[in-house]
Amino acid sequence: MTNEWLRCRALGEPLELDHRLKRFDGVYRLVHVRVDPLLDDRGRIVRWYGLLTDVDDQRRAEEALRQSERHLRLVVETIPALVSRSKANGALDYVDRRVVDYTGLELEQIGLDVIHPDDQNSHVRKWRHALETGEPWDDTYRIRRADGEFHWFYDRVEPLRDSDGRVLGWYAVKIDINDSREMEETLRSTRRKLSAAMQIATVAEVSASIAHEVNQPLASVVTNAHACQAWLSHEPPNLERAQATLERIIRDGHSAADVVRRIRALFKEAVPVKTLLDINEIVTEVLRVLSDELRDNSIIVETQLDAGLPMIEADHVQIQQTLINLVHNAIEAMESVTDRAKSLAISSGRQGEELVIQVRDQGVGIKDATLVFEPFFTTKESGMGMGLSISRSIVEAHGGRIWAAANEDVGTTFSFCLPLTSERSA
Ligand code: ADP
Repeated sequence: MTNEWLRCRALGEPLELDHRLKRFDGVYRLVHVRVDPLLDDRGRIVRWYGLLTDVDDQRRAEEALRQSERHLRLVVETIPALVSRSKANGALDYVDRRVVDYTGLELEQIGLDVIHPDDQNSHVRKWRHALETGEPWDDTYRIRRADGEFHWFYDRVEPLRDSDGRVLGWYAVKIDINDSREMEETLRSTRRKLSAAMQIATVAEVSASIAHEVNQPLASVVTNAHACQAWLSHEPPNLERAQATLERIIRDGHSAADVVRRIRALFKEAVPVKTLLDINEIVTEVLRVLSDELRDNSIIVETQLDAGLPMIEADHVQIQQTLINLVHNAIEAMESVTDRAKSLAISSGRQGEELVIQVRDQGVGIKDATLVFEPFFTTKESGMGMGLSISRSIVEAHGGRIWAAANEDVGTTFSFCLPLTSERSA
């Protein structure tokens, strides 16, 4: 204090510092001192005026605050997750150390581009919805690491509100779920491959056994035909023997036809088990079943379901299967699309005495709207070409129709109608 006072006096500068000062009761308290010179009209110092303010309580409170802030930051930074805060309008205004370390970016540099391009649209849409409703929300998406690799994160965002319920800001915690996500994906793709392989194996097996069963009587037909020829070319022809071999030929011919008939019966669809169904519920169910796939392919789903539709009498599993086939094909048709939004529109409605369901995609489109329903017609590398053929059998077994049409702009719309049968169903 003395040194500083001597220095300021020599330079004629004001003095300002904190020091401890003994109070009447012997307790040292921190005071803030400010001493200013008073100058005469020639600029010489005439007097020094000093002001002493007791700041002991204030400084103590400040230190406590600093301590608690340090403590809080430590708590936040040790949470094994990325923590961030955004303003009421969604603009990011704080990120913890882990965010900076993970992304390699400071707060000001962090933008939408740290999110995987395929996840940006749905993330922005969720943000918009949250800003409109002020509700907590979550999302699962990929964030780019400093080295350019993307990791899956589960993000949970909660609003902080004032006493009037106005949102003051948003607090977000993001947890790295990459390992479990990758495991899930591997599992899913293995399952997909397995089911495709099983289908192919089944077809191969069935074809082999068909070939075997049909071949036996056919071979026998050929042998007997040769024998018959021999008996007939005898001099004189042995009509009795020829007659006997002809009978064997007829018997084997019938037996081959039997095999074919049995196989046909095997492939005939199961008779539909009809119950009363709400078609809109089935649409919702199917979208739920395929939600991961839809999200992974960044597909925007729009539904336009007529809430006033009567119930229909139909086989739940079969109708569900038909819809899954159509939605699945739509997803695959949009797989290679990059120059436009991938959107899928599903609608339900009533036309006279029929219920019409439409699945409209923005995919690659079709060349021939009839051929696609033929069994084994496929343009996909691992396709079976059975999906639409089975769908057609199902719809027709329900007394309905299914058809495809190219959209005016891009993509295809698959539609099917089912009869609204009895009054009972209404
Ligand atoms: P798969 O999907 O195994 O090929 P499908 O019978 O379901 O069998 O479909 C047959 C073919 O019809 C597909 O390979 C594809 O060429 C065409 N197709 C089906 N749905 C669509 C669609 N939404 N957009 C374009 N093409 C389609």
